[in-house]
Formats: sequence, C-alpha cells, structure tokens
Amino acid sequence: MPVASYAIFCEMLDKARKNHFAYPAFNVTSLTTANAVLRGLAETKCDGIIQVSTGGAAFAAGSAVKEMALGAISIAEHVHRAAERYPVYVALNTDHCTAGNLDKFVIPLVEETERRRASGKPNLFTAHMFDGSALPLKENLDIAVQLLERFSKSALVLEIEAGVVGGEEDGVKASAAAKLYTTPEDTLEVARRLNSVKGARYLLAATFGNVHGVYAPGHVKLKPSILKECQDAVVKQYGEEARFYLVFHGGSGSAIEDIHAAVDYGVVKMNIDTDTQYAFTRAIADHMFKNYDGVLKVDGDVGNKKAYDPRPYLEKAEIAMAERVKQAVTELRGAGTTMMK
Ligand SMILES: [Zn+2]
Repeated sequence: MPVASYAIFCEMLDKARKNHFAYPAFNVTSLTTANAVLRGLAETKCDGIIQVSTGGAAFAAGSAVKEMALGAISIAEHVHRAAERYPVYVALNTDHCTAGNLDKFVIPLVEETERRRASGKPNLFTAHMFDGSALPLKENLDIAVQLLERFSKSALVLEIEAGVVGGEEDGVKASAAAKLYTTPEDTLEVARRLNSVKGARYLLAATFGNVHGVYAPGHVKLKPSILKECQDAVVKQYGEEARFYLVFHGGSGSAIEDIHAAVDYGVVKMNIDTDTQYAFTRAIADHMFKNYDGVLKVDGDVGNKKAYDPRPYLEKAEIAMAERVKQAVTELRGAGTTMMK
C-alpha cells in the first residue's frame, strides 16, 4: 500500500487510542532496515511508522556527503515505492530535530512536500518531530506553534516533546539535571498553545522517566501514571477533544506492564531503535563468527565469496530485525489491527 496519507494516519491514531494499542515507530538508516520494518509489519498485519533521525539521514546520504535532508528524501522515496508491495499502511516520520537543526532537516523536507503538493503529488513525509525540550517551555511552544501553522496548510502532523528523555540518542545526551518527568501544568500549556491552531494534528512526547538507549533492569524508573495525570488534567480543563495522542520515546528495556499502562493512558506511538539495532547486528555477528575463515582471507587463503558477499548476511540481518519488529507489534497489541481492507 502507499504511504499513509494525512487522513489515513489520523484515522490510524484515532483507532489506536480508542482500542488501546500503539503503533511501533522504527528508526531506519538504509534500504535494508526499511525493508525489515515493512516485512515485520506485513507479517503481523499491523500498520506502523518508519522514521528517520538526523544522524540516520546523514548516514543514508553517504559518508562523503552526510546531508540530512538528502538522506531522508532518499529513504522516503524508497519507502514510497516499496510500501506498495506490502498489505499494510506505513507512515513516514522524522525523529528528534532540535531548533538548531530545523533549517538543515525538517524545513527542507517540508519544502519538498510543499513542492510535491503544488504539482499534485502526495506528501513526502507524514509527520515531523520538533524537539524543543532543551529550551524553556515558552520558546519550545513558540516554535512549535509556528511549525504547526505551516504544517496544517500541507496536511503534515507535528510531534513535539515536553520534558526531556534521558540518556543518549544519535550523540545527543540529556543533561543530568534534565526534567525527566513532564508535569500536568506543562501539558496544559501545550494544549493551550497548540490547540489554538485549528484543524491541525499533533503528537506529544511526554516524559515519564524514559531513557534513550538500554540499561540494566532496575535502572529506569518509569512512572506511566504521569501520563494519566496529564490526560486527566487536560480533559478536565479543555474537554475530551483535547485528550493527547502520546508518544513513548526511550522505551527499550521497559517492563511490559509499563508499556501496557502507557498505552492504556493514550500512547499511540512508541519509538523503537536500540532493540532493532541489536537484532540486526546480532545476526551479522553470528554470521561472522560462524564463517570466520570464509569472510576473512586467513593466512594467505582466499576466503569464501559466498560468505563475504554482503547480501547473505544483510539478508539474515533484515530477517532478524523483522522478527524484532513483530515482537514490538505484539507487545503494543498491534497484531491484526491494519486498516487495510
Ligand atoms: Zn526519542
């Protein structure tokens, strides 16, 4: 199926929140990892989200070029074409983009969508994230409102973050003093500012102790009840239609009960990167260790072309990552929920 349109994506989000499941959003950096996600989603009959980070996009553009917007467009173009072969909907998102990177990443991608729409073509991406969590809330929301006004004219969904996800992602490390738990007051302010943009859709990454990367069990103290407090506060103040569509970042290694509680409180999207990175690399490591004398030319030997050709091990990695995708779908109660008829 084609990439989810704005209307389909909004329907997907409504369906998830109503039925207490969430869409996994997988970071991809290459054709192979994008194909792994499509395969895993199709095999579980679940719609989902493919996303690209600034670092992943720079990587995809090639080590000599490293242009974020170029890499993101290349991956998106591939997904638009490849997704046609799979019986599920997939939305295309971009991940964390700080204020300093907007002009190099999100804005050129929005401009690309604006050009496409002007010539009658579908949007390039479905949603873009602006991460202003390092800024004071007012500055964060000033930028978010501007973006949302522009997005609403081109049927793009905005994702924002209030509070800070701990840990490190793509070399960006949260400070030790960061606000790891969003407060109901903060989210009321988010609703007050962003709901003033009529006819727009946004997602909120609220933080409840989540940490990017993976840690030993017990390290991460998740408090999903914070999400409930935020939802209760916003519904009390602004009514049911103000209920948030929440995003869960930094969920690797979370207990399944915490994941389910978060989904029950309105998480409709959960980002997954570290776990699929490991699944991918684990399969390659397995191939390399088992075929040591084939992938290497040991002691003047010639090695084995069948072993060092990148295709067989990248295919193993693709399939292993697809299996991890399927696990994520199941954990988020997404299996069989596709809106594809
Ligand atoms: Zn994140």
